[in-house]
Amino acid sequence: MKTKTRRILALLIYITLIFLPLIVFLLFPMPPGRNFWRDFSVMLGFVGLSMAGLQFLPTARIPFLSNVFDLDGIYRVHHILSVLSVLLIFLHPVILLVNNPYTLLLLNPFTAPWRAQAGLIGLAALVLIAITSVLRKDLKLDYNAWHGLHDLLALVIAVFAIIHLLKVNYYMTAPAMRVAWLVEIIIWIGAAIYMRAIKPWQISRRPFTVDRIIPEVAETYTLVLKPIGHDGLDFHAGQVAWLNINSSPFTLHRNPFSISGSAHQKDELRFSIKAVGDFTSMVGQLKGGETVYVDGPYGSFCPDAPITQNGLVMLAGGIGIAPIMSILHTLADQHDQRPLFLFYGNHSEGKIPFKAEIEQLSKQLNLQVTHVLEIPAEKLESESGFITSELLKRKLPQNYADLYYFICGPLPMIDAMEANLHAMHVPGRQVNSEKYEMA
Ligand SMILES: Cc1cc2nc3c(=O)[nH]c(=O)nc-3n(C[C@H](O)[C@H](O)[C@H](O)COP(=O)(O)OP(=O)(O)OC[C@H]3O[C@@H](n4cnc5c(N)ncnc54)[C@H](O)[C@@H]3O)c2cc1C
Repeated sequence: MKTKTRRILALLIYITLIFLPLIVFLLFPMPPGRNFWRDFSVMLGFVGLSMAGLQFLPTARIPFLSNVFDLDGIYRVHHILSVLSVLLIFLHPVILLVNNPYTLLLLNPFTAPWRAQAGLIGLAALVLIAITSVLRKDLKLDYNAWHGLHDLLALVIAVFAIIHLLKVNYYMTAPAMRVAWLVEIIIWIGAAIYMRAIKPWQISRRPFTVDRIIPEVAETYTLVLKPIGHDGLDFHAGQVAWLNINSSPFTLHRNPFSISGSAHQKDELRFSIKAVGDFTSMVGQLKGGETVYVDGPYGSFCPDAPITQNGLVMLAGGIGIAPIMSILHTLADQHDQRPLFLFYGNHSEGKIPFKAEIEQLSKQLNLQVTHVLEIPAEKLESESGFITSELLKRKLPQNYADLYYFICGPLPMIDAMEANLHAMHVPGRQVNSEKYEMA
């Protein structure tokens, strides 16, 4: 099935599932005798809950969807829908209260019946998940600790929301509504089992081993992996995988990295990793022979689509060069001769990863490289400062608005590049960004 068809199909199914309880409410007979505001508030709660529960799906990294949507887009939608679901669910008791102030009694945790207490516990967990996700960095929460808390709270929400639904039991007496919620709950449980049991089991059957670690500049290492007992990973240039090193794939301890080698070199898998924290700092200390589990490939930061054929402009900052290296090596192996332009921003000349490799690639490919350095270089031909729209216009051919752009680097750099391209009237559909940030 074509990528576009898969994308539309996935979106249609997803939206239908989110609104399933409302669709059933509107189309099938429901128990009578409740006023509009009460129905309205319950439907907000139903849609909000189905939206919250279905958050498992986009982040479950299901193979059918793995390269249909870009990772950044998936996580952005996940964040927006999570916040929206909190708002909808929050409005449910608020409207009930305004409609009937006696409902206030249901907020007293000591006297409220179980059906209300379960709803309150679910709501509190939902608010907590939203706050800890949005403010994770401000609260200085360690990523893995936050991830564990996030999964625990998601479980609490699901369990108490189901108790609330079953105990209130008004709309659930309609057979069609019971079927709708059964479908929703089966999907929640199915996605959770897939993510936490089936997928790790599949990954555990295709292990890799650390073959060697190549030190690059500026605390960056290229990790070269070899498959153990299988024929390696099929991926497209520019894709991402999650790595577990020396730990079981059933744990939450895995980190995402772009594959940095050629998609045509199947006997080894390369990742280029900059040390910034606990996991990434451990890479330089590996000795070789360690077992690595690879969950991937994912993402659509790839130059394969017909839209990219006019020429590619790659805007990279620091370690954001990793997926670009995969793209360049793959295109070189394919003897691709489309026009390529690389603008590579770094702090200073001594901190440019892959400088020699890029120079070598520029001889094999129709590639023009512009190094942009914050500290001006003495020997290397380069531009000073940051990548600006003025620089892009000066270096690119006149048809720059017809070219396809890949951006990868720190978040502020990506925002600045997207603004540059917008100011240059490059259509948004010709810009593909990979953010090294997920929550
Ligand atoms: C799609 C994607 C591709 C990436 N590709 C590369 C790459 O090719 N090379 C490279 O050097 N870096 C890459 N990164 C960044 C890399 O994943 C983080 O630097 C690394 O996970 C940090 O882990 P740490 O324990 O060393 O640092 P920490 O100090 O624990 O974390 C630093 C920050 O990294 C993020 N992070 C930490 N753990 C995870 C995790 N398990 N999943 C997602 N984010 C996490 C959090 O925002 C955290 O605040 C990529 C990130 C993403 C999202």
